[in-house]
Amino acid sequence: MRIIVTGGAGFIGSALVRHLVLTEGCEVLTLDKLTYAGNLANLAPLEGHANHRFLQADICDGAVVRDAFAQFRPDRIYHLAAESHVDRSITGAADFIHTNVIGTFTLLEAARGYWDSLPAEDKASFRFLHVSTDEVYGSLGATGLFTETTPYDPSSPYSASKAASDHLAIAWGRTYGLPTIVSNCSNNYGPYHFPEKLIPLVILNALHGKPLPVYGDGSNIRDWLYVEDHAKALHLIASRGRLGETYNVGGRNERRNIDVVTTICAILDRLAPKNHPHADLITYVTDRPGHDARYAIDATKLETELGWRAEETFETGIEKTVAWYLENEAWWRPLRDRVYSGERLGVLTPE
Ligand code: NAD
Repeated sequence: MRIIVTGGAGFIGSALVRHLVLTEGCEVLTLDKLTYAGNLANLAPLEGHANHRFLQADICDGAVVRDAFAQFRPDRIYHLAAESHVDRSITGAADFIHTNVIGTFTLLEAARGYWDSLPAEDKASFRFLHVSTDEVYGSLGATGLFTETTPYDPSSPYSASKAASDHLAIAWGRTYGLPTIVSNCSNNYGPYHFPEKLIPLVILNALHGKPLPVYGDGSNIRDWLYVEDHAKALHLIASRGRLGETYNVGGRNERRNIDVVTTICAILDRLAPKNHPHADLITYVTDRPGHDARYAIDATKLETELGWRAEETFETGIEKTVAWYLENEAWWRPLRDRVYSGERLGVLTPE
C-alpha cells in the first residue's frame, strides 16, 4: 500500500505517518511545505526507514503535486495539510483561504487527473481521504452532539475555510466520481503537539513558571481525542469506510478548558513539583472573538460501522502527554526558543 500524506510533518499528520510506516507496513510519501507548524523532528523515528520518503512541496503548486503523483504512484491520498490555528486565522485569514481552499482544490484536481489515468481495478480501490474538523459544525449549546448530518455553521475564518474544503472534497466525489471520504474530528492532543495549542502551551508555561492563559471564564468545552487514536481511525476510515460518506471521530471526552488546565497542573504537581501548586499560575485572559462554547462529537457511526473505539480516556492520554513533554525537551526546546525570540507569537506570548 502506497500512500501520500499531505501535512505529514505536522502534529496529526506525523502521528499518522509514524503509524502507517511503523505499524501498518505502508510505503509513505510525506508531502509538506514545512510552514512554521511543520517540523521534520516529528518524523525523526522514521529517519532512514526504507518505506518513508519526504517531499517539501506546497499543495497549492499543481505542477509539483501532479509530478509527485506521477512519480510515487499512490494507492491513496490522506490530506491533512492545512493552516490549523484558529487564533492565527483571526489575525491573518489569507493563508487559510489559500492553503485550505485553493490548496485542497489543487490537490483534488491533481488527484482526479492521476486517478483518471489508472487502470479500472486501481481506479476502484483508490481513496482520497480529506481530514477535517468538527469546528465546521459551529457551536453546541449545553446538550446535544455533532453528528454527520449536523448542518455546517462555521464561526472562524479557520473553520469556514475547512468547511469550504470539505464541500470541495464531497463535490469532487459526486461530480467526477473521485473516491473521496471526509472525516471530521474533535480537538486532538498528544506527543509532538506544536506549543501554541492549549495543552502543550499549558505544560510548557507551567514548567517555566509562566502564566497559564485561559480564555474567558474557562467554561468552553472541547471533546479531546488522543492523536494516536485518531491516526488509527483515519487509516480505518480510508480502508473500510463507504465512499462519499463523512465519519465523525471523537474520544467521548468532553472537558471544560479550565478542567483541562487544572488536570495538567495536578499531574505536574506530582511529576515535576515546584514550591507552589502549578494552578497558582492560571490567568484568565480576554475571550477569543467568536469563541464557540462547546464542541462534542457523536462517533457512533465510526464505532458501529467500522468497529473503532478510542483506546485512551482523557485521564490516561493526558498523563502520557505530560510525561512525553517532560521526557522530550530536545524536541520542544528549539520551538519554544523560536517563539521566545519573537519569530512567531501566536497565543504563546513571552511575558
Ligand atoms: P498542523 O498545523 O500541526 O500541521 C499542518 C501541516 O501542514 C504542517 O506540517 C504544515 O507544514 C503543512 N502545510 C501547511 N500548509 C501547507 C501547504 N500549503 N502545502 C503543504 N503543506 C502545508 O495541523 P494538525 O493539527 O496536524 O492538523 C492536521 C489536519 O487535521 C488539518 O487539516 C486540521 O484542519 C485537521 N484537524 C486538526 C485538529 C487538531 O486538534 N489539531 C482537529 C480537527 C481537525
